[in-house]
Amino acid sequence: MTTTDEPTTGTAPTTQAVPAASVDERQARQVAEAAREADWRQPSFGKELFLGRLRLDLIDPLPVPDPERAERAEAFLGRLRDFASTVDGARIEREARIPDEVLRGLADLKAFGMKIDEKYGGLGLTNLHYCKALTLIGSANPSIGALLSAHQSIGVPQPLKLFGNDEQKQRFLPRLAAGEVSAFLLTEPDVGSDPARLSTVATPVEGGYRLDGVKLWATNGTLATLLVVMAQVPKSEGHRGGITAFVVEADSPGVTIERRNAFMGLRGLENSVTRFHDVFVPEANVIGREGLGLKIALTTLNTGRLSLPAMCVGAGKWCLAVARQWAAERVQWGLPVAKHEAVAKKLAFIAATTYGLEAMLDLCCLLADDERNDIRIEAALVKLYGSEMAWLMADELIQIRGGRGYETADSLAARGERAINAEQILRDLRINRIFEGSTEIMHLFIAREAVDAHLSVAGDIIDPDATLGRKARAGAKAGAFYARWLPTLTVGRGQNPGAFGEYGPLAAHMRYVERASRKLARETFYAMARWQGKLERKQGFLGRVVDIGAELFAMSAACVRARAEAGGPDGAAGRELADVFCRQARLRAEALFDTLWDNTDAVDVAAARRVVDGRYAFVEEGVLPIPDEGPWVAPWVPGPSTVEDVRRRYR
Ligand SMILES: Cc1cc2nc3c(=O)[nH]c(=O)nc-3n(C[C@H](O)[C@H](O)[C@H](O)COP(=O)(O)OP(=O)(O)OC[C@H]3O[C@@H](n4cnc5c(N)ncnc54)[C@H](O)[C@@H]3O)c2cc1C
Repeated sequence: MTTTDEPTTGTAPTTQAVPAASVDERQARQVAEAAREADWRQPSFGKELFLGRLRLDLIDPLPVPDPERAERAEAFLGRLRDFASTVDGARIEREARIPDEVLRGLADLKAFGMKIDEKYGGLGLTNLHYCKALTLIGSANPSIGALLSAHQSIGVPQPLKLFGNDEQKQRFLPRLAAGEVSAFLLTEPDVGSDPARLSTVATPVEGGYRLDGVKLWATNGTLATLLVVMAQVPKSEGHRGGITAFVVEADSPGVTIERRNAFMGLRGLENSVTRFHDVFVPEANVIGREGLGLKIALTTLNTGRLSLPAMCVGAGKWCLAVARQWAAERVQWGLPVAKHEAVAKKLAFIAATTYGLEAMLDLCCLLADDERNDIRIEAALVKLYGSEMAWLMADELIQIRGGRGYETADSLAARGERAINAEQILRDLRINRIFEGSTEIMHLFIAREAVDAHLSVAGDIIDPDATLGRKARAGAKAGAFYARWLPTLTVGRGQNPGAFGEYGPLAAHMRYVERASRKLARETFYAMARWQGKLERKQGFLGRVVDIGAELFAMSAACVRARAEAGGPDGAAGRELADVFCRQARLRAEALFDTLWDNTDAVDVAAARRVVDGRYAFVEEGVLPIPDEGPWVAPWVPGPSTVEDVRRRYR
């Protein structure tokens, strides 16, 4: 395995390093805005929630999966469970590698084709069962979950399913269903959250394109044989140009897997630095059309994002199992630690949050499978909420385990204790708050959708480039919209003490959600009126608005789940947990409401400016200086690779 103590892309410079693309803030936003799906063709529970309208009819009753399909999927989950129980997760952690036989076993089970249609050799699982499979296999080792998820949720199968033509599907999908691995390559040394700086270029040539560039952190990159690569096509005669998605054969001449990267967690991840030097890609491998790359990436992520919270749900379940058994067994100060209130609160948090998070994820999956709702907001909310909450749950588990929480599984086993890898789970979970849209970017993404109704009526009023005539017309349109909409925010069902009786003891929570959703919409409107176009910079405010929305969505999902399962064997227990979850979520939402207008945002922004200016550098004194060799971001140098290819093939 390679180490990461050398510059990731700093191969011997043969020519000049490529300077970072010069993109100002406005251009970066324009690129993101152009990639956005502007239309709302289907109803959205999340969008309505942010507008103060609790459209429970969109999520309750829950859509019912096709029974025959569900039965086949359950049979697969049974086989997967048997296989998962044979996987030595500790070995993957120790050797930082998923063994070949595990990869072959997954291929034999068709786990690489879970999301691929049966007509292409896959299993054709619904989102619901696909996510259940990831939850399950991720509990054997989270790196396996990440492998299968990157392969199917963002790798070649998903964009082809949404945007590929028949010929492409027939050419690539059977290979992938049979066990070839795919990866998704967007990130570059200079491109993280902001794709406008993309510098990998696809130059049009006879019959196709020539690809040049370096891609960073591609999950599965060392293993993959088929890649989705995002590259800039320069605008020219006959070419509209723009960021474009290509399917690239990883074995094409000119593709070098230069490094395998290593991380804080997910030690089994096969993550690469991949160089493209003069790589020919046939025209037939363009997904969609030129210029559609970012839209494809974003649309792919609408459902693709569901796989990450599936792993978070798995982590919650695992944390709960450990916390429950350990806290009942461990006696300190004359009592099992579960009976000390400080620990009891953590147990209740883990149990209730796992219940709420699973309710949210299952709901999103069912809505995605049902295809009658636009789930872009809901999927983004569950990614955001799942990654943050799973991190908190794992952290609380470590606290409950005390010193043993900090000890590695191998060390515990060597002392003759149960090999519980809580510290590994915490490390493995940390990346979820960063990739597939960092928490900060998810806040902005969801906030953009949440205020879309305002922008679409008031857009020209706040657009500095709009003419006076356009501003006046927008003013009239906005006046009419707000005259109709604002009165609907003052009263609603949530004020009626008998409302939502169909939720039984949980009705009070649904009434709260209804009232809070209207309050949230009112606060958003005040913010629009106060800050207008500057609202998009008020990230503290917007982040809280989104987090409140996430809590309200989670509460709704928990109550709907409890209602749907009321007649089942765990009906009463589920209702209790939904109640505990809603009480906790409500307190979090209230705390967020409290800080919407009463906070230190402006103070912090001013202080941060002074931090960056060095005014507070004296506070850093007393420790050794940080390393000062090497650039913060290694520039990439065009040309053929000068390092050994580190690709891995498992069969
Ligand atoms: C283990 C791992 C696996 C990965 N797998 C893949 C993969 O398969 N394919 C792929 O293409 N990429 C992959 N990535 C890349 C990943 O998606 C990026 O790390 C992520 O998009 C963040 O980009 P960045 O790290 O460059 O952070 P930056 O964009 O440099 O951001 C740094 C910080 O600033 C914040 N920030 C940035 N812009 C804003 C803003 N406008 N407002 C507020 N805050 C902001 C970010 O949230 C972050 O906290 C992977 C990364 C890792 C570590």
